[in-house]
Amino acid sequence: MGDAEDNAVDVEVLVIGAGVTGLYQLYRAREDGFSTVLLEAGDGVGGTWYWNRYPEARFDSESYTYAYVFSKELFNEWEWSELFAGQPEIERYFQRFVEMFDLAPLIRFGTKVTSVEWCAEDSTWTVSAADGRRWRARFVVAATGMLSAPYFPDVVGRDDFTGASHHTGLWPAEGVDVTGKRVAVIGTGSSGVQVIPPIAAEAAELVVYQRTPNWCTPLNNQALSAERQQELRDDFEHIRQTLNTSATGFMVPPPERLSSEDSPEERQAFYETMWNSPGFAKLLSNYKDLLSDATINREWCDFIAAKVRAIVADPATADRLIPTDHRYGEKRPPFVTGYYEVFNEPNVSLVSLEETPITAITATGIETTDGHREFDVIVWATGFDYGTGQLRRLGVRGVDGVRLEDHWADGPLTHLGVQSSGFPNFFFPGGPHGASANVPRYNTDQADYIADLLVAMREQGLDVVEVPSDLEASFTAMIDQLSRHVPFTKISYFFGSNIPGKPVKNLLNPGGRPMLFTFIDDLRNEGYASLKLSSSKDAES
Ligand code: NAP
Repeated sequence: MGDAEDNAVDVEVLVIGAGVTGLYQLYRAREDGFSTVLLEAGDGVGGTWYWNRYPEARFDSESYTYAYVFSKELFNEWEWSELFAGQPEIERYFQRFVEMFDLAPLIRFGTKVTSVEWCAEDSTWTVSAADGRRWRARFVVAATGMLSAPYFPDVVGRDDFTGASHHTGLWPAEGVDVTGKRVAVIGTGSSGVQVIPPIAAEAAELVVYQRTPNWCTPLNNQALSAERQQELRDDFEHIRQTLNTSATGFMVPPPERLSSEDSPEERQAFYETMWNSPGFAKLLSNYKDLLSDATINREWCDFIAAKVRAIVADPATADRLIPTDHRYGEKRPPFVTGYYEVFNEPNVSLVSLEETPITAITATGIETTDGHREFDVIVWATGFDYGTGQLRRLGVRGVDGVRLEDHWADGPLTHLGVQSSGFPNFFFPGGPHGASANVPRYNTDQADYIADLLVAMREQGLDVVEVPSDLEASFTAMIDQLSRHVPFTKISYFFGSNIPGKPVKNLLNPGGRPMLFTFIDDLRNEGYASLKLSSSKDAES
């Protein structure tokens, strides 16, 4: 690589982001013998589990299905205390991973990347940080996360509020003291419904500002006993095999029955079993035709609605908590612990923004069409610019200075959800056209694909990989085509519709893991011949 007269540090594989994907990519790069460094904006590891440290932030994938399974030593050593671990424990897990594999010397914390620019002369990327440091990298892997660009609605007066104001995705490390305070939570997605019960327990008054409700069902968390821990260790090879190969990346058994195989009474009993099952089992182990048969989906929704009405004492509040704009599975369902119950507490009330929209944030509180209320703390649980949000803000400039955000102006164009044409040697595992599965499983599949590709190129004496534009076009067209048949509808943030002005395009790969595996296998078997591989020496000569 070129000389370092400009003080840029030369490195072969530069990874951005110390979340579940970036840390694994760093590990692979080091194990594969590349010089490597990881740049992280925060001061610690964990990615989404570093930034989302609000009370009761926790997994809703079973803890051991989210964890790394490439290392039996790590799996055996780590003891998850709960089936669905909370944020502090998750953060400690990633810290231990870094410690066990001695990755800390390779990580630069407090390093906010501001630009990533391609240099055609020597086929390298120049990566600059906010403090002026620079790196010159052969390969850049932007593992910047799909839920990492917090979204604040453009509400009049948002900056005028003089009390404490926090987004769930940027929660302060020192915590937020809500004891005895008047608190507003805006948003009732997965983050909002997790943070509302612990705030309700501490605050003098909590007002929940809900635009539209979700189909929430119990997480059914539980402690993992010593016996269960041992069972998991004994079952490691099976767990690893299942997590590495199953379509969903979960251990949850797939659906066994069609709804028509059961009588109406048997279906109600089955729904009760589902209601009491852990996490995503309600979606993944439900009737085979839950998402394809509108009548059955309605029946399951009616079952949930009846549960809500049985829990929430005030019928008008219960009604407001029951969705009317989507069926189960058309948006990513949240899982809750004691959520509906808080609305029976005297210090908690619900405001429907469909009935009385917010008109302004003021210095002292929130104004809706129904009047003004004063608060000490406002919590923005208003979600994220999913999939492309962070990548579009990274200052990526490819061949001929083309901006990634311009290349994606009408929605992301990708190959395998890891590369784009005109951006050689730039990868984004966990980005758009990514996981419709247990996220860490899918993302580390992509990270392995990238790592294997780099090794294969090195073996051939090559070090530049580009995606031909026809390959990108056909992969993206296939995503758009398959998107007509997905359960998630366009009101889901998976289509970007939560961000005003964002192109409404599916940001997931509807073909999921099975399709990803097929593509990767085909590429591997053909020696990556569909990609454009070359040597940087050709460009220099
Ligand atoms: P979200 O699902 O996008 O929810 C955002 C909430 O803010 C929604 O209730 C939305 O209302 C509301 N909102 C958006 N704009 C608004 C506006 N202008 N005025 C009022 N309300 C507004 O975001 P999230 O809750 O942060 O969850 C995002 C994803 O993160 C989850 O789906 C999940 O994948 C992940 N997550 C996972 C866990 C876990 O347990 N592992 C926990 C938290 C988050 P509408 O619904 O009406 O748009």
